[in-house]
Amino acid sequence: MSAIAKVEPLSTARALRGPFDYSLPAAFADVQVGSLLVVPFASRRMLGVVVELADRSALPPERLAAPLEALELGVPTELVSLALWLARETCSTPARALALMLPAGTGRGPRPRVRRRTALVARLREPAPTDDGPTPRLTSRQRETLARLAEAGPMPVTALAASHDTLRRLRDRGLVELRQESVERRPRRGQLPVSGTPTLTAHQHRALEPIRAAMRAGNHKRLLLHGVTGSGKTEVYLQAAAEALERERGAIVLVPEIALTPQIVARFQARFGDTVAVLHSRLRAGERHDEWLRLRRGDARVCVGPRSAVFAPVARLGLVVVDEEHDPSYKQESDPRYDARSVAARRAQAGHAVLVCGSATPRPESVHALSTVRLPERVDGRALPPVEVLDMRDRVGALHPTTRAALADVRRTQSKAIVLLNRRGWSNFLTCRGCGKAWCCPHCDVTLVLHRDGSIACHHCGHRQRAPSSCDACGSLAVARHGAGTERLEHELGEALGGEGFPVLRLDADVLASGATAVDDVLEHFSAADAGVLVGTQMVAKGHDFPDVTLGVILDADATLRFPDFRAEERTFSLVTQLAGRAGRGPAGGVVLVQTLAPDARAITHAARHDANGFIAGELERRAALRYPPFAELIRVVCASPAVGSAIAAAAAIAERLDSEAGALLGPAPLFRLRGRERAQLLIKAHDRDVAVRTLGEVVDAVARERTHRAVSIAVDVDPQ
Ligand code: ADP
Ligand code: ZN
Ligand code: ZN
Repeated sequence: MSAIAKVEPLSTARALRGPFDYSLPAAFADVQVGSLLVVPFASRRMLGVVVELADRSALPPERLAAPLEALELGVPTELVSLALWLARETCSTPARALALMLPAGTGRGPRPRVRRRTALVARLREPAPTDDGPTPRLTSRQRETLARLAEAGPMPVTALAASHDTLRRLRDRGLVELRQESVERRPRRGQLPVSGTPTLTAHQHRALEPIRAAMRAGNHKRLLLHGVTGSGKTEVYLQAAAEALERERGAIVLVPEIALTPQIVARFQARFGDTVAVLHSRLRAGERHDEWLRLRRGDARVCVGPRSAVFAPVARLGLVVVDEEHDPSYKQESDPRYDARSVAARRAQAGHAVLVCGSATPRPESVHALSTVRLPERVDGRALPPVEVLDMRDRVGALHPTTRAALADVRRTQSKAIVLLNRRGWSNFLTCRGCGKAWCCPHCDVTLVLHRDGSIACHHCGHRQRAPSSCDACGSLAVARHGAGTERLEHELGEALGGEGFPVLRLDADVLASGATAVDDVLEHFSAADAGVLVGTQMVAKGHDFPDVTLGVILDADATLRFPDFRAEERTFSLVTQLAGRAGRGPAGGVVLVQTLAPDARAITHAARHDANGFIAGELERRAALRYPPFAELIRVVCASPAVGSAIAAAAAIAERLDSEAGALLGPAPLFRLRGRERAQLLIKAHDRDVAVRTLGEVVDAVARERTHRAVSIAVDVDPQ
């Protein structure tokens, strides 16, 4: 047994860096790397993770304290190494990275927030007692209860539709046993029936072969599955997972946003049953805790979830899938700013597992780095829908006449349409016709968006106030509304087309925020309806498989092109292609209409021709010329401060101290104010990622410690999105 544990206290403070040595008395003989210990720390009690065991310490024994307590659950050893790697890669701290790996329900404090749940469980007495007397007369209720228990097995009494009286009588007769036991809290399951395994198409078969071969050999392998929408990528994931399970190995399947992809979860559950666990933030704390435990114990071996599921405690990992690998939601936007796709690659490598990244619109980075297998056709051999680009220059109104006619057609023929407008709310912004005042967020430099409920809201910080009826600057009563958002579009299409048997539904972040099942409800309503329109933000373009959608429309398709970001074209291409992928998945076929002010933009013309290869080739050429990823590493530093000028000063101090070894510097440049804080940004185009990350980490730590910059918070984002 080792005598010393090196412990990283779970503090969020950048300045507090372990590991610190603690002695391990005999009572802590079971402590391992990953164990969670409550330790005394500068007169406080803190929770810490053991990151290493050692035989001796540099400190004299009398200066070493012993832990106060060891928690029952710990972090799996391989996730401790993953966390330490992640902390270095993202310029974060080991404690912040370790916090991502904790058993679900463990807070950073010394007491777990979630405990096992126990409940009164009823089960049949076995063997059933033989009764020599007259056969006991059972009421119909009692007989029903016995039958239910015989069929479904032991269950909590709350799940049995039986009164306490009934159960007590059954117990008194020796037929049923009632005991307090620990029970698992399980998330609501998908509704798909259990499914068989379809015969793969030739393309699917060819895609699966290298995955199987690598798994058979126990080799690490990274593959990009570039398959057009509807080409059966999910089926390839399913059969790859089956292969992993057959070899007694586990799988992690990452999806962009669980609320929007209930189908893929349901398909895994229908195929593999209880061996599938889901982990995501919308579960109740107890459900998450118990799903985590099922994985940790090996009761479940496949984990499906969004980016944080990349930290799932799946042992003997054989397969990691990243579905819709182009999706920006794989990037975490708070410290540690990790990219689940890079973490997935790292985990797969460490576990000698196979990584499969799938998309119809893969990132140029992935095309560059991974070997590609293709699914060039839809499963049923149907063509991708034709795409018509509609020039909106010199036009007024939200809809092109062609769009209006196509929507009316959908109504007449009773089919379905999806309309994408990547802007939620009612109107983009309000101005005063008298003096020109625009209503802006008091905390951020952005305009407030009008919502149908009569409020104006900031989509960055969540600030909300009542919409003005008059101008508080000049008193004018003429307040103009500009632009349309999803709420207004829903309303207008509802007025024009909606009615009995033709619902007009909306899906956007406001719906997502309005309740746990709100998104499911909308998707289920649209799916179950015979006809109708689904209006929404980019959420409507994600992975849905509605076979009866015959029309896809995207309004203001070049909106994403106007972002000052080198990924703007990629985003636009992918949005148009993904939306097109929702249409024409059934026998009735379909068409796609793209309204835009930039009909000649490369992203739009290539998407209209379904030419992903051409687009990506051009994109890689452009990036090589401009030295953007994957030909250079980009690192972003954002300094934020309540005081004007100090954010810029801190960014300048960092820029000054970075030597040219780190890479080329862009900035510091001011960013728009956010949540009441002034911001400044510094961009580094690094030649050598490791050197740049290390140098920058040291410089940031030094600048953060200086008095003059104390009020400034500094965030480092390696591979910003
Ligand atoms: P993707 O993920 O590439 O968009 P999906 O996996 O959702 O495509 O497949 C589209 C549809 O085709 C789904 O309804 C799926 O059940 C079906 N499908 C996939 N593979 C096959 C196959 N080999 N034979 C028959 N149907 C299939
Ligand atoms: Zn005014
Ligand atoms: Zn704001």
